[in-house]
Amino acid sequence: MKKTKIIIIVCSIILCLVAMIVALYIYLSNSFKLNGKEKVEINYGGEYKELGTKVNLFNKDLSNKVKIKNNINNKKTGTYKVTYTLKFLFFKISKVRIVIVVDKKEPIITLKGEEKISICPDVIYDDEGYEAYDEYDKNITNRVKRSIDENGFIVYEVKDLSGNKATKIREIIREDNIAPTISLKGYSTVYVKVNSSYTDMGYVVSDNCDDSPNVEIYNTVNTNIVGNYKVTYTATDKYENKSSVTRNVVVYEEGGEGVVYLTFDDGPSGSGSTEKILNILKQENVKATFFVTSNGPDYLIKREFDEGHTIALHTSTHDYGKVYSSVDAYFADLNAVRDRVQRITGQQVNIIRFPGGSNNTVSNRYNYGIMDILTKEVVNRGYNYFDWNLTSGDAGECTTSSCVYNTVVSRLSRQRANMILMHDIKMFTADALLDIIKYCKNNGYIFKVIDETTQPIRFK
Ligand code: ZN
Repeated sequence: MKKTKIIIIVCSIILCLVAMIVALYIYLSNSFKLNGKEKVEINYGGEYKELGTKVNLFNKDLSNKVKIKNNINNKKTGTYKVTYTLKFLFFKISKVRIVIVVDKKEPIITLKGEEKISICPDVIYDDEGYEAYDEYDKNITNRVKRSIDENGFIVYEVKDLSGNKATKIREIIREDNIAPTISLKGYSTVYVKVNSSYTDMGYVVSDNCDDSPNVEIYNTVNTNIVGNYKVTYTATDKYENKSSVTRNVVVYEEGGEGVVYLTFDDGPSGSGSTEKILNILKQENVKATFFVTSNGPDYLIKREFDEGHTIALHTSTHDYGKVYSSVDAYFADLNAVRDRVQRITGQQVNIIRFPGGSNNTVSNRYNYGIMDILTKEVVNRGYNYFDWNLTSGDAGECTTSSCVYNTVVSRLSRQRANMILMHDIKMFTADALLDIIKYCKNNGYIFKVIDETTQPIRFK
């Protein structure tokens, strides 16, 4: 009996001890807590910040007794453990925190070539290429999937190995609103003798989307009737873009024998000479051609126009150094006088005479060879230039009216059209004019003005 009692007592004590130990373990374990979450995600390459633990045992902080171990590699995605071990008396308690290193960064797709491309409607776009790069998976270009959306745009999609997606769109706009380019072969103004045949020099056409745009030619030329005609070439591409170019065809009268063109350069002059010339022309009922400048008063140009003379363009400044310094300078000067004439008369004039004539050499001082360019360029721009074949000498050898008169009448020829160069800024020219007109009338010459049907007289 005694032995049994002892056994019971010993057992009770052991049980009590075990219960105390278990209770202590539970208490200890419950007092040992992780700061923060048990499962933490960090980005690839990111830093894991240790949050530590809290151990509050009988109001005593034992967290400094906790040993922390981890095997985290933030350069490699995966699941890692942080182990916290607390040794107290004969207890060893462990807690674990799970750290997951993830790749959450989206890859980047880079397009070669433009992201917005405008191409001809029926052209197949040849992809200029692309690249996909992910910070974790590196080059993943081979994972890119291409598709075409409802707009016809190219959609590039890629997913990295962790499932992060990226999308890029290349906008392919299929349109053509560019008109064909059409230009003339040969000159933009051509001269054809009446009753001869007109041969069209043709055109050159090209288009961005159409290899052979349709060209319609509208030709009104009638070589049997003297006049100014147009040939219009209209190019239309297969997307209905149009452009046109026009050629002027002048059908002129053959011959001109015994014709006199009185032409006056450099005016008008406000000092009386232009006025005197206009009075004589009016009295004799003769029409002349005035190649005007920007000098002199407007009312003289108005009077020349109103009295039926031809107003043509000479130069605005007559300053050779300016006019012939460049092609642009030449046209700026010409435009200025053209605008003046248009303002005064309402007419857009295209008959011109170069200062010094088309073969002058003075221009070479300012721009060598510019006349070769200008004589072609003025024609391309729709101007018609005239030189002369009879100089009155009033800008050179003559300083008196009798010299001008003698020079003109000695040079007149019945076998040609006589294009007489005079200057209405010279009073001695005005003084010679009446006698010149009388001589011409007495010798059967006919006076004409230059117009669009006049056969040009040119040095070259
Ligand atoms: Zn001149």
